[in-house]
Amino acid sequence: MRRVMRKVMRKDMRNDMRNVMPTMNWILLALLALTMTAAAQQPASAPQNPQPASAAQADPTPAQPSAAPSSQAPSAQAPVALAPPTTMDQVVDRVIMREKDLIKFLAPRTPIVETYLQNLTQDKQLGPVPQDDHYFLGRMDLSESIDRSDYLQDKDKNKDEGMEKRLLGGLTKRFKFQYQPLGFSWMIFVDRNDFDRQHYDFHYSRREFLGDVRCLVFDLTPKKDAGRGRFLGRIWVEDQDFSIVRLNGTYAHPSRNSYYFHMDSWRLNLVPGYWVPSYIYSEEGDFTAGAHNTIAFKAQTRMWGYNLKTGTANDELTNIRVDSVKDDTPTAQDATPLAAEREWQQQAEDNVIERLERAGLLAPEGDVDKILQTVVNNLEITNNIELPRPVRTRVLTTSPLETFSVGNTIVVSRGLIDVLPDEGSLAMVLSHELAHIVLGHNLGSQYAFNDRMLFSDEATYQNFGFKHIPEEETAADKKAIEMLKASPYAQKLETAGLFIKALQQRAPQLSALLQAHLGNNITENGTVTRMAALATSSPALDWNKLDQIAALPLGGRVKLNPWDDKVEIVKAQPVAITSARDKMPFEVTPFYPRLSRYSNANTAAATTAAAPASTTTTANANPTPAN
Ligand SMILES: [Zn+2]
Repeated sequence: MRRVMRKVMRKDMRNDMRNVMPTMNWILLALLALTMTAAAQQPASAPQNPQPASAAQADPTPAQPSAAPSSQAPSAQAPVALAPPTTMDQVVDRVIMREKDLIKFLAPRTPIVETYLQNLTQDKQLGPVPQDDHYFLGRMDLSESIDRSDYLQDKDKNKDEGMEKRLLGGLTKRFKFQYQPLGFSWMIFVDRNDFDRQHYDFHYSRREFLGDVRCLVFDLTPKKDAGRGRFLGRIWVEDQDFSIVRLNGTYAHPSRNSYYFHMDSWRLNLVPGYWVPSYIYSEEGDFTAGAHNTIAFKAQTRMWGYNLKTGTANDELTNIRVDSVKDDTPTAQDATPLAAEREWQQQAEDNVIERLERAGLLAPEGDVDKILQTVVNNLEITNNIELPRPVRTRVLTTSPLETFSVGNTIVVSRGLIDVLPDEGSLAMVLSHELAHIVLGHNLGSQYAFNDRMLFSDEATYQNFGFKHIPEEETAADKKAIEMLKASPYAQKLETAGLFIKALQQRAPQLSALLQAHLGNNITENGTVTRMAALATSSPALDWNKLDQIAALPLGGRVKLNPWDDKVEIVKAQPVAITSARDKMPFEVTPFYPRLSRYSNANTAAATTAAAPASTTTTANANPTPAN
């Protein structure tokens, strides 16, 4: 097994970073040797003498063959359409072939993988609630084995002892239980090397629709002597090309000191002919009465950035901007010192935004930005704010709740937009950053030098930081509240205050979700500091009041296209909340994307539906822009 951590960061950068962000609590990453035997093996050759599958021979009736998928793929060549299989055995052969095709197709890619995990404890009123949490973010190299390098720095590397203790936490010693980031990313393929009839029995179960896609369902069991770490569970196979679109199960025969998670792994048809691994939900634990829990957690793993270019120094140099100083007005000759300063700031801002986007950490400009932009405009107009440069907004693709501004660009994380209950609370979040801009707490213009953009994607967090000193934070909060009170949101701040209260109640258990990586934390030592004054004028938090929605679960608002990183607002029918347990503020929920086939006309929008099953919002919890 290869070492999975790559040292990508320059040491001086690291030291700089420590000075800039002494309080940064780097998340510990467990990168221990894997026990998953299959990972270490070389890819197997194709099966030579396929044994008859134990699948039912009756009723295979595979669907009509698909027309060859569109050839205008975004940098992907669709596979050639083959004659439809006529027996279930042939279907199984096709499934195996398609899985191997997918592994080959993804081999040159290095998607971003994010795992967010909440350990659970039983609350008498609310059921299982988060006890503490973990966060992992890295790039996965799918070329030979599944390999990954991490964005987050391991503070205590070489201290396996301490690491193990910390990760084991309060768990019993019966399971030597580690959250290995790779353990979660592992679950994207059925079996990286040995997915064939020699290692597995296929049992055809039935047909079933997942979203718009008709699927054949197979139960998979590893053969008796197939070895450790084999998939055990169910696969859903779409009935045109016979690609696997969903896997649900676990891996069989763990060794004595390892443990495999249960997982539900979904793929989306984001490019013609290929279903790309996109979401994995994992869960362990039993909370029925009297059950004795040794392990209880819920985790969401998301993959995106499949189409990111692996940057080289040469690529980066071609990105130096040259389009800035074209002025046709006859009187303009040279920039005044102030104009030059602004130009310089703009340069720094553009550099950073472009670099973050290229690292897969910032979504391309899109519809979600328009919603954020509308709220910012409302604040600006009602407060007579006129700035020399327009304020823009962008979405950070990650889950931890954070905001920051880069020059005049306000950045809000996907996870934060997800959990905000309404437009008033979105205004609260944006007003703080707008206040920084209005007060001139500007980005250090050091980023106007392009050499400062030359670092590996994995080192983004070490090279960028947009934190403010505490005095600026206080001043921004004060200014933000002034602006809110003069805005259309003045009458809508009760829910924003409730959001702060809900966050306060959960903050001590959610330190990983609340750990900002580029901006300021919104809590300090488990206490909400950002905009905390708004909590005082809000009603009491009451979980049993079903019409009081203070915060939403993760994943309920923003969906991220794993192929092109575009984000859009989830279009889900609100589901009525029937008990306090349905609220699940800040919590991880299962994924239940509505699957559909790739189509050119309807590109990303239709194919990335990925709202968790429980998008428990009420009708008024929609951040649609006010007019
Ligand atoms: Zn701030």
